[in-house]
Amino acid sequence: MPEVIDIPEIAAATRSFIGSEHKLLINGEWVSNVAGDSLAVIDPATGEQIAAVPAAGEAEVNSAVAAARAAFDKGPWRTMGATARAELLLKWADLVEQHHQQFAETEVLCTGMPMSVAGAVAPIIARDWLRYYAGWATKIAGQTLAQDPYPVPGVERFLMTRKEPVGVAAQIVPWNFPLGMTVMKLGPALAAGCTVVLKPDEHTPLSALLLGRLACEAGFPPGVINIIPGHGHVAGAALAAHPDVDKISFTGSTEVGKKIIDAAKGNLKKVTLELGGKSPFIVMPDADLSKTIPMAVQQGYFLQSQNCVCPSRMLVHKNVYDQFVEGLAAGADSLIIGPGLNPATTLGPLVSAQQLQRVQSYVQSGIKEGAELITGGDELDRPGNFMRPAVFAGAHRDMKIVREEIFGPVLSVIKLDTDDIDEIVHQANDTEYGLNGSVWTENIGTAMRISAGIRSGIVGINAHTMSDINGGLGGYKQSGWGREMGEESLHAYLETKTIMMHY
Ligand code: NAD
Repeated sequence: MPEVIDIPEIAAATRSFIGSEHKLLINGEWVSNVAGDSLAVIDPATGEQIAAVPAAGEAEVNSAVAAARAAFDKGPWRTMGATARAELLLKWADLVEQHHQQFAETEVLCTGMPMSVAGAVAPIIARDWLRYYAGWATKIAGQTLAQDPYPVPGVERFLMTRKEPVGVAAQIVPWNFPLGMTVMKLGPALAAGCTVVLKPDEHTPLSALLLGRLACEAGFPPGVINIIPGHGHVAGAALAAHPDVDKISFTGSTEVGKKIIDAAKGNLKKVTLELGGKSPFIVMPDADLSKTIPMAVQQGYFLQSQNCVCPSRMLVHKNVYDQFVEGLAAGADSLIIGPGLNPATTLGPLVSAQQLQRVQSYVQSGIKEGAELITGGDELDRPGNFMRPAVFAGAHRDMKIVREEIFGPVLSVIKLDTDDIDEIVHQANDTEYGLNGSVWTENIGTAMRISAGIRSGIVGINAHTMSDINGGLGGYKQSGWGREMGEESLHAYLETKTIMMHY
């Protein structure tokens, strides 16, 4: 398994941004926190601290919500023309494009993701997704509804609906794909006319703060976008419970998602939850393995498998099982492990030492429960949170590695001993999650039957992981409520008002 060690220099602009004094963005101003405590931002490739960011406490949550409330109730955002809102979003997108290198390097240094993802994907989708939602701002429309004759003679009526912003939106983002997740939430909320308080994850606050600086430069009115890094159990919990927040959009674990529901009950906030996954990757006997195996490797270990749509449960037909396991292990062994900044790296470090230990405990559990560790799974003896990507074969439904979301580079292969499509669908659905899934076959009938049977928000046919903003990201069962991305995400920030008129 090849390794690279070198960490190339970062651009002077990135160094200057990361090394600058970081503050919280509240009401258009950069402020410190009253408690004075801070979040240490650690480079996962070295274990060294690269920045300190003030941690928002209850006082900062209250100020940020008050600013967002005033900007919504009294400020210009809700009443500003949609074209003006779209123009600001477009200007912001242009600034993101101009700061491409800073965003890419910042994402690598906070999350550990390889530059191939951070450079080629993260800032580009951030720019494009802002542009996508800028386009929607001017296309929000109600309906003119059909009416039956009014039963009172001489009275006619007219019925229509208006779409109006929900109000103040709180948004809570995880660490695995911070820039993308942040824009995925801000874009539809702002296009809809909501004001926002966004809490980035405590490990990865920097790309959101850079976005905040550019939002100020673009000219968003004070209070429309507030960005407050902080601990989940403090700032996140206070936001979820705050009586002046109308809507909460959360991406993270199913466990915390359930806490959000409880906290949001007080004032019946509208809630969107994007939670965990344990997605099946179904390989049928007629699959084209020359395409299937490389995609299993690429998608299986994307972001060190720290992604909610990861195909971590591979269900492989007995006729192609041995060939698939051999190919998957060879693919895992060919990944180049190293710091994300090194352009040769294809598998970076895990986000934190704690996450590495958590994933290691799953490797031990797989071994203990009798799965066959074909390759990898061990920690690297070097600074940073590195481990070799693992492949377990001979896995079965009762094992912890098959049932629980690992969020690390540990893939499990289960042998399918049946040709019965209903039974295969049943096994694919044998999980409390329902976020993503895929079927690999050259038979269109098999593809259609299995894709219709899988109970998840996204299904791929000879593809895994949908990353098109026009689609929807979200899940069935315990993978969440509602959808991010696409038009549906916009509607999560809108209320429908029916207006009737008699004349
Ligand atoms: P997490 O739930 O621990 O944290 C996510 C966010 O919630 C962080 O910002 C954290 O500070 C905050 N938080 C923690 N406790 C909180 C509380 N009590 N109240 C309010 N906020 C709180 O999740 P994680 O381990 O950081 O992220 C990984 C999880 O996110 C995985 O389960 C993954 O599947 C999920 N995820 C889902 C999607 C999706 O679109 N469905 C996308 C990415 C990640």
